[in-house]
Amino acid sequence: MSTSEATTRRKSTNSAEERLIAERAGTQELIASLSGDWDGVVDASAHTGVDDEHDPEGATIAFERARIEASLSRARARLADIDDALRRLGEGTYGVCEQCGGPVGDDRLAARPAARTCIACAGT
Ligand SMILES: [Zn+2]
Repeated sequence: MSTSEATTRRKSTNSAEERLIAERAGTQELIASLSGDWDGVVDASAHTGVDDEHDPEGATIAFERARIEASLSRARARLADIDDALRRLGEGTYGVCEQCGGPVGDDRLAARPAARTCIACAGT
């Protein structure tokens, strides 16, 4: 029989932290994989020497770059949100809406552990 197990199950803070850490790991993996894609595209354009937009291949590479860049910036923003959520978890303000100060809601936190605002505020 373990008393520490009963203690960790008493509060939901631990599972929120676990979710955030798992989400953080997944996002870092995504960033690493996107960075790998990015290097591949840069290599491809270096090898073929196409930076001319009139060249169809150059346009494809430019499109690929833009797509990867957009995904990377989304993933980095998400990582920043997760880090912020972990900081708030440490401060004891996790799960509090940044705009209205009300609860973000367990369902929303389960779906989006790094959510900064409640559903009502997110919709405005
Ligand atoms: Zn709110």
